Amino acid sequence: MEEWLKVAHSKDSNDSLAKFRSQFYIGSGSYYMDGNSLGLMSKAAEESLLSVMEDWKRHGIDGWTEGERPWFYMSERIGEMMADLIGAEHHEVLATNSTTMNIHQTVRTLYKPTEERHKILVDELNFPSDIYAVQAILDDSGYPNGMVEVPSENGHTLSTDTIINMMDESIALVILPSVLYRSGQILEMERITEHARKNGIIVGFDLCHSIGAIPHDLKEWGVDFAVWCTYKHLNGGPGSVAGLYVNEKHHPHKVSLRGWFGNNKETQFDMSHKFDPALDISQYQVGTPHIFSMAPLLGSLEIFEEAGIASVREKSLELTDFMIAMIEDVFEEGEIEIVTPKDHDARGGHILIGHPDAAGINAALKSKGVIPDFRAPSYVRIAPVALYNSFEDVYNTIKILKEIMDGRLYKKFENKRGVIA
Ligand SMILES: *Cc1c(COP(=O)(O)O)cnc(C)c1O
Repeated sequence: MEEWLKVAHSKDSNDSLAKFRSQFYIGSGSYYMDGNSLGLMSKAAEESLLSVMEDWKRHGIDGWTEGERPWFYMSERIGEMMADLIGAEHHEVLATNSTTMNIHQTVRTLYKPTEERHKILVDELNFPSDIYAVQAILDDSGYPNGMVEVPSENGHTLSTDTIINMMDESIALVILPSVLYRSGQILEMERITEHARKNGIIVGFDLCHSIGAIPHDLKEWGVDFAVWCTYKHLNGGPGSVAGLYVNEKHHPHKVSLRGWFGNNKETQFDMSHKFDPALDISQYQVGTPHIFSMAPLLGSLEIFEEAGIASVREKSLELTDFMIAMIEDVFEEGEIEIVTPKDHDARGGHILIGHPDAAGINAALKSKGVIPDFRAPSYVRIAPVALYNSFEDVYNTIKILKEIMDGRLYKKFENKRGVIA
């Protein structure tokens, strides 16, 4: 065990991102391993929220156009700040609504079913909200049986070949996660997109678990649209406004969910009853933006601009490599199942481990200051985050896990999930 601490110390002293840790509020004596569910608050995010509140105090209604960060343009401004993280152009990215709402908006707008081609391809491992949205859209479009789910052979990962084989001429649109929220597998977005384009299929990705953790080249790959939340790796705070990308080639399509904030800004306040759509991504907005739920992103995204997503990814892989190596070393073979793919190209920013007593183990970890999250029926997700976790945090997490397993301390807790898990 001790030699792993030495490795951790040496990695921490060579860590070029180590300086960012002090910019986050990290509870003392705790090891936060849940940044892929809710990222921690940074001082920059706190300051930007306070400064936007100050603008309200000082300017009242004029805050829409005055102050340092006029509210009228904030959705677009944050979109620009996120563009590099996904490899898109400024006028293709926007902060608006929630992820689920953005799926409704983009899929409803871009899905153009015909009798021959009306199916939507999803996967059986995706987050339920994405599936509910797609099913609702199919119900409304008169194709309630149009959803096709890519099966998983092992219950954890998807095969690109299977996905591609299912993308036939009956499929109108495919929406898949970039990184699976449980196993952490990265799907081969470029290959899937290439195949979709060749076959006239609209392709979109849900980047909730990849944005801020891995780099993307959506524009170059030719992805049609993408959605993501900003409260996970982007550290925007609980319920922070989501992100949206739509390839500029689709900007001429009129959006399905229309509202006055999707109108051309020049004519928005003419208050005409004739919708005059914005000519870029702005058209995808609906109503008045949730300013205080966006404001933390102004600060939080500056940290990403400074750190650079390539360095974030590099350290993230080192952290998860270190965690996997330590687990494999300190536990008996098979004692703890590592579900996440070990290949770098197929691994996102978190690790999923399996054990029949996972709920009890998760509770025991929490009682000892480690904050992971439990995923039913028998898995624990652990996310060491490059911007604020150290290698020593990872060392302590696995050391505590080892104590729990050796002492069977999980037996003291009910092997059952809480309301939020
Ligand atoms: C976190 C997450 C969501 C959450 O959607 P909201 O609309 O923000 O509640 C949706 N899909 C995936 C894949 C997620 O990981």
